[in-house]
Amino acid sequence: MLLRQLKLLKLVKSHSHGHFRYLSSTTPACQSFKKWYQQLWTTERTNLPPYGHFTQVGDPVLRQQAALVPPEHLDSPEIKAIVEQMIKVLRKYNCVGIAAPQIGVSLRIIAMEFKKEIRKELPEFTYQARLMSELPLTVLINPELTVTSYVKLKHPEGCMSVRGYSGEVERYEAVNLNGHDRLGVKTQISLTGWNARIAQHEMDHLDGKLYTDRMDRSTFTCTCWEAVNTKSGRVEIPFYK
Ligand SMILES: [Zn+2]
Repeated sequence: MLLRQLKLLKLVKSHSHGHFRYLSSTTPACQSFKKWYQQLWTTERTNLPPYGHFTQVGDPVLRQQAALVPPEHLDSPEIKAIVEQMIKVLRKYNCVGIAAPQIGVSLRIIAMEFKKEIRKELPEFTYQARLMSELPLTVLINPELTVTSYVKLKHPEGCMSVRGYSGEVERYEAVNLNGHDRLGVKTQISLTGWNARIAQHEMDHLDGKLYTDRMDRSTFTCTCWEAVNTKSGRVEIPFYK
């Protein structure tokens, strides 16, 4: 495991066009010197990416321009391991999209999946109004997005890296994505409606952008505000699963 992490570290360091960062997080400024000093003597190092949880707004990795995966590494075991971890986290948290920076890896990789079962969890009206449709698991390495319909649709959007909130965002109605699939093979996909929204949201992550940068700020909502009232404030949002 450690060997794999070292390899990943080397990969990211050597190919991120001057944007390189170490995969391990830096010492937070708020951490006391004593604690930092003690850490040097512990054999068990802190948790390292690729994480099994979602990084949260404030983490510098969510604000970086993610690096292209070098062509010669497209089908490498290191990239495969990152993609597998992304899919694992995507499914564990039961969401529809994930970008590599969300598990702490500053590389241009996204994964999307809109499962049939999600439809049952939503009011039919919402499903229809937001132009939702099924999308099989789609992984894209070094994706490029082209807008194919400049009609804008405004709907509420959330992000696992801004846990507990939502806001209305305008997104283009239809897009094309070009990139490489998880086997490194060139691939292209056309998306409309909600799936086009997912793609635009995940592409933004690769450029260090969050939906909160684009949203109508007056619609910013804590997703559990009603529960906060009914439960006299005793509501917790877990960051793990
Ligand atoms: Zn997001």
